Amino acid sequence: MTTGHTLVVGAGIVGVAITRQLAANGHVVTCIDSADASTQTSLGSLAWINVSSTSDPDYARLRSKSLRAWHNLANDHPSLPATFPGTLIWGTQNKGHEAHADFLRDLGLEVSLLGQSEFKNSVADFASPPEVALYVKGEGAGNPASLVKWFRDAAISQGAVFQKGHVATMLTEAGRIAGVVLSDGKKLTTDRVIVAAGLGSADLLKPFNVDLSVRASPGVLIQTKLTKRVALPIFASPSLDFWQDASGRFMIASSLAKTAKDAADLAVETAIDEIQRMFPGLPQLEVEQVVRRSRHIPRDGYPLIGAVPGIAGLSVAVTHSGVTLAPLIGEFFGGDTVSSDWSRYDLNRDMIVQQERGAF
Ligand SMILES: Cc1cc2nc3c(=O)[nH]c(=O)nc-3n(C[C@H](O)[C@H](O)[C@H](O)COP(=O)(O)OP(=O)(O)OC[C@H]3O[C@@H](n4cnc5c(N)ncnc54)[C@H](O)[C@@H]3O)c2cc1C
Repeated sequence: MTTGHTLVVGAGIVGVAITRQLAANGHVVTCIDSADASTQTSLGSLAWINVSSTSDPDYARLRSKSLRAWHNLANDHPSLPATFPGTLIWGTQNKGHEAHADFLRDLGLEVSLLGQSEFKNSVADFASPPEVALYVKGEGAGNPASLVKWFRDAAISQGAVFQKGHVATMLTEAGRIAGVVLSDGKKLTTDRVIVAAGLGSADLLKPFNVDLSVRASPGVLIQTKLTKRVALPIFASPSLDFWQDASGRFMIASSLAKTAKDAADLAVETAIDEIQRMFPGLPQLEVEQVVRRSRHIPRDGYPLIGAVPGIAGLSVAVTHSGVTLAPLIGEFFGGDTVSSDWSRYDLNRDMIVQQERGAF
């Protein structure tokens, strides 16, 4: 176990998962967040916990490991607000359904190929089933705000401290991290900083000549009011990803960039129309909440997880699919053994522009 104090910057799903794991393993840890909920990506997440959305073998292996970590958490903690009804996915795989099914089976997932009648048997209210779809058992989802709260509460019960504050800069001494300075001028001393600040991470790393080049990809999470419960699994269709919670609320993710006018209202209208077409027996859906957020996506699309070279005690955890990956990222930073799972995703890969270092 590392001695000393760890400061986690960012209390989105990634930061709270790291904080919980550190606290569970007996580390002294504080998580700090500027608490500007309007910029927190996690609150706008569909929170679909999945492997099936990728066909990259190494990345899929990582995601399947994290899916197992989610299942372990659910087994150990019945209060975890996640369900694992599996995913119906179709029309989104480059390689075709059968090849994608084999690919996922090789990773240990249970996958069935469904024809139209089998699809109809499993989701009776769906109007026009696709010719073929995959059912991927064990994939899950949760309300993103409830998931963040669960990890945060679990971390606090293990002794972690949460604090409000905006980290303006980080302090180093003799090549290692020494503390941070908040925007109100207050200084906090610490031995280790883990930057899990989403879109705010790049600015914090700039002074160390590390260019994270994270791009923001806008999207919306639409939550409907309660309605008749018709859909059990998670749906990943070519046009929309969605699931319906136990009380009958639809959670729907839409990419603004994919809509013609690049506008949130149009994305909402289109998504609701699409769900009504899929389930014509539903009463008119009413929107309860629309959350607009930008996903933060590293330049090559893959996670940036690991130590900042040359600055002892400074690490970064910035990724898309942060909900899927959160427990495994937590284990990486909070665990007592070093895992090689993330070696492909560290900051040494050449996408990181590292200019000549200054005096750090
Ligand atoms: C529409 C949409 C759908 C998505 N669907 C899925 C999905 O189905 N499955 C999935 O796995 N992922 C999905 N994602 C992606 C996922 O939501 C993100 O990868 C994840 O939420 C990232 O979490 P995070 O903790 O890294 O970042 P955030 O949630 O953004 O948290 C970062 C925190 O850092 C804080 N912060 C920033 N700068 C500072 C600073 N200087 N000082 C102090 N605090 C700071 C912010 O206030 C924020 O609270 C989706 C995203 C969107 C937008």
